[in-house]
Amino acid sequence: MYLVDYHIHTKRCGHACGEEREYVEEALNKGLREMGFSDHVPRFYNPPSPEVKVTERGMVREELDGYIESVIKLRNEYKDISIKLGLEVDFVPGWEEETAAITTQYPWDYIIGSVHFIPEWSYGYIANEKEHEPEEIYPVYFDQMAQAAESRLFDILAHVDLPKRSFPRLDPGKMAELHKDLAIRLGKAGAVIELNSYGVRGSKLGDVGVYPDQGLLRLCRQHGVKVTIGSDAHRPRDVGADFNRVTELLNNVGYREIAVFNKRKRSMIEWED
Ligand SMILES: [Zn+2]
Ligand SMILES: [Zn+2]
Repeated sequence: MYLVDYHIHTKRCGHACGEEREYVEEALNKGLREMGFSDHVPRFYNPPSPEVKVTERGMVREELDGYIESVIKLRNEYKDISIKLGLEVDFVPGWEEETAAITTQYPWDYIIGSVHFIPEWSYGYIANEKEHEPEEIYPVYFDQMAQAAESRLFDILAHVDLPKRSFPRLDPGKMAELHKDLAIRLGKAGAVIELNSYGVRGSKLGDVGVYPDQGLLRLCRQHGVKVTIGSDAHRPRDVGADFNRVTELLNNVGYREIAVFNKRKRSMIEWED
């Protein structure tokens, strides 16, 4: 099988642990063909209030060069796996220029776009949202995710139904309606989304499943959305974690190909080979 893990953090972000080398070793243990570091971007936007300490959210600007150097060094050292240089970048409406600056200045293989907060509400993590009900959270989150796709600033979109991490899903009819709207917009924008296994292991609600749900993924396929794979590892042992659940989903929905990236150029690979 040709499996990749494109969503891997480093301790620079302030909430991950271990050495980069250990993440690479784990990817080799799991038999992955490609891995990519995609640590959290240094904060490029100014939140109106200091709800989140910079060091908890992502690396600081001064760490960026060291991050890039360390990934390139590992890439040159390990020849049995292809090591990609990525970055996970928050989509913050109104900060597109700054986003474009950071995502075009460096030799990235890919940029992952994420929605972790709804700026109109708060700059705190959406999973900790207390002021709004799920009925509001899901549509607003999906709309911001669709906007991220439409901005065309990113190569991959992360965890597209992240609110299920903390909030019960809406009733199936309503959920399906929202999923369909999202899938249509993602398809029109030519998006690649990630099958992210973090939901299997990382939630206070227990195993909430891979992001996205199978129903949403099916709609995505119908609307021409492409996929890639990430674990969202914040510790070495989570590299490639629960990828059996990811391949099960790929099989169930009928995705034969995954997207891989090189210097921000996409190509498609049959993962079952
Ligand atoms: Zn993180
Ligand atoms: Zn994320």
